Formats: sequence, structure tokens, C-alpha cells
Amino acid sequence: MLKIGITGGIGSGKTTVCKVFELQKIPVFYADSQAKALMHTDQLLMEQIKNHFGSDVYSEQGVLNRKYLAAIVFSDEDMLKKLNSFVHPAVFRAFDSWVLQQSSPYVIKEAALLFESGSFKKCDFTVLVTSPENLKVSRIIKRDSITADDVLKRMNKQLSDEEKEELADFVLCNDEKQLLIPQVLNLHNEFLNRSSSL
Ligand code: ATP
Repeated sequence: MLKIGITGGIGSGKTTVCKVFELQKIPVFYADSQAKALMHTDQLLMEQIKNHFGSDVYSEQGVLNRKYLAAIVFSDEDMLKKLNSFVHPAVFRAFDSWVLQQSSPYVIKEAALLFESGSFKKCDFTVLVTSPENLKVSRIIKRDSITADDVLKRMNKQLSDEEKEELADFVLCNDEKQLLIPQVLNLHNEFLNRSSSL
């Protein structure tokens, strides 16, 4: 089964694109929301987090104190790298077992850090969703009710679109000028063709 990785900067519209694939009955694994869930369900990951960041990271009931953990990792680059070194393999494990349960011609993994995490290496093809920066910023301000400064801080933690374009097999332009749905349907047909020739 073909594995397609979809990524894009914050506010580029990658989730919106994935919803269109889902309408074509293509299953999508949302790596970022899975990562959050795994911090409560993956025993190995929970042990690693507790051992490294201290048992205060979880309450006695096993609930993750996200604010506490965020305060640690967002003030110390090495701590963030360490957390990612636990979380990314847990997401890989979860994706691998999810794939085994699917029966579609191809599946999609949506991940903000597809390239940064190395996860793209396990995909057959990768798709980058791009949008002009001003559009990305205004979408996120509207969606998350945060300031432009906060959006830019988040953006600066990710690779630029230019760097990601070098690595991507396909690029979808979500600039609200070119129609998005026909671009997605073209890719869907491309992946169906490629999966039928496997
Ligand atoms: P994040 O990385 O923050 O999760 P994302 O890349 O997944 O963002 P989306 O959540 O798909 O982006 O889109 C961000 C916001 O922009 C959403 O509110 C979405 O509805 C809106 N949006 C995305 N694409 C379009 C479009 N072509 N036209 C209008 N609104 C759009």
C-alpha cells in the first residue's frame, strides 16, 4: 500500500487538503493529534517522558501537565529535541500499526514536521501544501485568536517552504486564487494510478 506524506507550514491548509482526500475515502493519519494522544496511551513514551522530565509531568491520575512540559521544552532547545526524540518514534510505531488496519489503495500521513522529523523517509511520496505567508498568518490569527507575533514565532520553528519544496515530490498551491479541489483530485488520480501499477 502506498504511503503518502502531506505537510505544509502552519496555516498552509494541509488539514483542509486532507479533508478533501478523506471525501475520496482515503484514510488519513493525523500525526500531530496522534502525538498528543500517545502521550496518554503509549506506555513506553510515557515512561520516557517521566524519566527525563520528572514524574511531575503527569498527575497521579496519569494526566499530562501540558503547560508544565511546554514551559520546559519551549525555553530550552535541547529539551525540545529530547521530547521529539521520544515522541517521533512513538508516532512511527502508531502509524505502522494503523497502516496494517487499512485496506484502501493508498493512505496519507499528515504531519507538520514531516521533513524535520525524518518521517518523510518512510513515505513513498510527499506532498507540500504552500500558501503565501500573509495568508497563512491571517488564517491562523482568525482560527486560533492569537497575535501575528505568535504565529511568526511558531513559523520560525519550521523549515521554510523553499527548503521543503526541495524535498517534496508534489506541491499544492493553496493561495485562494488557484482552485484547490481540482489540484487535490489530480493528485488523487495520480496516486490511484501509481498504486494500481504496484
Ligand atoms: P496547522 O498547521 O496550524 O494545523 P493547517 O496547515 O492544517 O494548519 P488548516 O487548518 O487546513 O491549515 O487551515 C488553516 C485555516 O485556514 C482553517 O481555518 C481553514 O479553514 C482555512 N483555510 C485553509 N485553506 C483555505 C482556503 N483555500 N480558503 C479559505 N480558507 C482556508
